[in-house]
Amino acid sequence: MLKGKTALITGSSSGIGLATAHVLAKQGINLILHGLMDETEGIALAKEFSTKYNIKTLFDGANLMDSAAIATFMDRAIDVMGSIDILINNAGIQHTESVDTFPTNKWDAIIAINLTAAFHTIQKSLPCMKANGWGRIINIASVHGLVASLNKSAYVAAKHGLVGLTKVVALECGEQGITANSICPGFVDTAILTDQIQQFADENGIPVEQAKRDIVIQKQAVPKMMDPRQIGEFILFLCSDAAHTISGAALPMDGAWTAQ
Ligand code: NAD
Repeated sequence: MLKGKTALITGSSSGIGLATAHVLAKQGINLILHGLMDETEGIALAKEFSTKYNIKTLFDGANLMDSAAIATFMDRAIDVMGSIDILINNAGIQHTESVDTFPTNKWDAIIAINLTAAFHTIQKSLPCMKANGWGRIINIASVHGLVASLNKSAYVAAKHGLVGLTKVVALECGEQGITANSICPGFVDTAILTDQIQQFADENGIPVEQAKRDIVIQKQAVPKMMDPRQIGEFILFLCSDAAHTISGAALPMDGAWTAQ
């Protein structure tokens, strides 16, 4: 059912986005890959996917802090690929610091990349989805779209905002075959956590591998970081026909973090 559809995944040059790209490509879904990487490497990555999975691909390195660059990216993506059927807003950054001293430039960057960029990509994708009478919008929020943690003011604000944006899109598009959902993961083993884990290891004088476990059990009942591919598998389910009434939801994958 999904073979031949086109998915755009922001931030698919690494981590959750890249793992999801592999899961979707395996189903024959054409891909618009994106992320902050060297243009030559990005083109090589897209070619690798085309060859391995026999799908159509495109790479774009638009900086999501720049709304004009996002508009150019989205127009190019629709022009080259013909449509966007599945939109996965996944790109994101983090900075941890107390609100007292949180740098304004970090606040602006986190809100722009983790929240505002999703507004722009959704706005540009909806005409295709409405024309086709089918669409899937999946926003990678976080457990921090549901609860807060210390020192994450911008991230928590952006992710709560993303959950809210998703709900509105779900309401507005319900009659047009388009669903919109947020996924709210707990700890996932990717580069975005590297600084936090290193800091935790340094503060506690423990090796990084131990820090990875100790940091997780502070919050989760399931004492294990997720493999990013597991999020890809969940996204695939949300794209299926079986999930056509799941919309407007903020779906935790958090090892019972928010059950407490
Ligand atoms: P990651 O660092 O591996 O991936 C981030 C991606 O965003 C990269 O592809 C990067 O190129 C892209 N990106 C960053 N800044 C950009 C910019 N200015 N313009 C364009 N692209 C940009 O991390 P990840 O863990 O795979 O993160 C993916 C998403 O998952 C993020 O939104 C993150 O908040 C969310 N998330 C991650 C975890 C976790 O524990 N790893 C938990 C909950 C939510």
